[in-house]
Amino acid sequence: MKTANSYQNKNVLILGLAKSGSAAAKLVHELGANVIVNDQKPYEENEAARELEKIGIKVVCGSHPLELLEGIHVIIKNPGIPYSNPLLAAAAKRGLPIITEVELAYQISKAPFIGITGSNGKTTTTTLVFKMLEESRKNPLIAGNIGTVACEVAQSAEADQVIVTELSSFQLMGIESFRPKIAALLNLFEAHLDYHGTKEEYAKAKANIFKNQTEDDYAVVNADDELVMKLAGQYKGKLIPFSSTKQLSAGACVKNNHVCFNDEPIMKVEEIVLPGKHNLENILAAIAIVKLYGASNEAIHKVLTTFTGVKHRVQFVGEVNGRKFYNDSKATNILATKVALSAFSQPLILLAGGLDRGNEFDDLISSLKGVKAVITFGQTAEKIERAAREAGIQFVKRVDNVEQAVPAAHELSKAGDVILLSPACASWDQFKTFEERGDMFIQAVHKLK
Ligand code: ADP
Repeated sequence: MKTANSYQNKNVLILGLAKSGSAAAKLVHELGANVIVNDQKPYEENEAARELEKIGIKVVCGSHPLELLEGIHVIIKNPGIPYSNPLLAAAAKRGLPIITEVELAYQISKAPFIGITGSNGKTTTTTLVFKMLEESRKNPLIAGNIGTVACEVAQSAEADQVIVTELSSFQLMGIESFRPKIAALLNLFEAHLDYHGTKEEYAKAKANIFKNQTEDDYAVVNADDELVMKLAGQYKGKLIPFSSTKQLSAGACVKNNHVCFNDEPIMKVEEIVLPGKHNLENILAAIAIVKLYGASNEAIHKVLTTFTGVKHRVQFVGEVNGRKFYNDSKATNILATKVALSAFSQPLILLAGGLDRGNEFDDLISSLKGVKAVITFGQTAEKIERAAREAGIQFVKRVDNVEQAVPAAHELSKAGDVILLSPACASWDQFKTFEERGDMFIQAVHKLK
């Protein structure tokens, strides 16, 4: 471990538990730190906190008293907790280091990192990279949204392995020394404005992925996204572009119906199983990353001819009475829903709505033209209804939740139609996770049968 000793006898405050907080608490405790865990959830309901207490970690639950900061050397915060939290604001005022679990993972890891960020496509690209490197026998480990928390993975990683991880803007705001050997920024759309305030702040947080890179590292960037190129150009990493629209002589692109890297054809585009232009972008980014890491063309070919996609991402659930049901619960912003809608040419009924982040849905209107009906639910139901009416959709119906939306959509549909859950919103107004929302949709579809 690189800097394992630096936690010996340090006073560490873990703010916010969940999976990553618990893992970080256990890790720094093992490294000899004096750990205090502070979590919002009351002690009686907080099983995770009680577990940590059993191994000798001090826990404070239910509130965030400022006295907790006394004598603290470093704070490891849950990525979801905003910096406006009074305890964090006070800590920042005192100049205390505030990091996220991924920084801790980097600090202790013997293995190098490949980091992937962007507004959309992170999980798909991360999965592709992991599979391609695995197929090339490069000994990769995967961390992040799918799989295990980064600091747990890092704890047992060996120097000849590589940790492939997806990174949110929230995580990237809490890095200090994190320096991925290869960093990819896939795209930048407006997202999480409730947390970051402006698109500029959000973009800056994402670009943090490049901030510690040197001339020896690689920055894989979307040549079709001006803002991505502008931001990445300000850092030292060697720029490796990918593009689904331009023919590039360096980097990954499509030429003569082949996906190519540095002008070398790898395979025919038509052999790729994953559908959609957006997935082609993810694929090109993944190819650039794995080719830089020495993956073989055979491995890339094998993965791209067999991989059918990740659950909850325009996942085909099944057919009931001639209607095809797709679960795209992971579409937590407008762009993801636009992308999903563009993948279908059949008559379509859209199920949408969720957490209100303060944005309007005007950007969705052009994609809603031609949609047969919209069923809405959640905090944004009214806003989405407005957009649907402006798009000229006749059938707009509001229901309480996803469970009711499925039979409502079935009633409005005919054989041959597509019924798509692609909410354009986060799930946190009614669910703990987007997976829970997607699973409710799947269950409701099975109930119809
Ligand atoms: P993330 O992990 O960044 O949320 P995912 O790979 O889980 O991304 O994909 C989530 C959804 O985002 C997909 O269902 C699709 O609708 C959309 N999406 C995926 N990749 C892209 C892309 N490159 N550009 C635009 N939208 C995309």
